[in-house]
Amino acid sequence: MTTPRIHIREGDKVIVLSGKDRDKTGKVLEVNPASGKVLVEGVNMVKKHQRPTRADRKGGILEMEGAVSSSKVMLVCPRCNKPSRTGHKNLKSGEKVRYCKSCGEVNEK
Ligand SMILES: [Zn+2]
Repeated sequence: MTTPRIHIREGDKVIVLSGKDRDKTGKVLEVNPASGKVLVEGVNMVKKHQRPTRADRKGGILEMEGAVSSSKVMLVCPRCNKPSRTGHKNLKSGEKVRYCKSCGEVNEK
């Protein structure tokens, strides 16, 4: 398996670059490296029909986030609050960290 190239992590704030939810921002709920897709809070809402189950007798229509390609979202830097390109660099300790190319802030390991 090749290393997934997803630059987004769970809990990141991202902005949507294209599609019907363009310019929306939200928190990343889930990352799926295998498909290269992410779920973003409030983005790409899709309706799902739910059959009544024993736990929920009503059933009905659920609205939930649909997966979007990770290439369609961009990280919003928590420091400069701008959609930012990310880079990776190695610390002296040997740790690899992700940083914001706009302000240089290290976002995450
Ligand atoms: Zn920044």
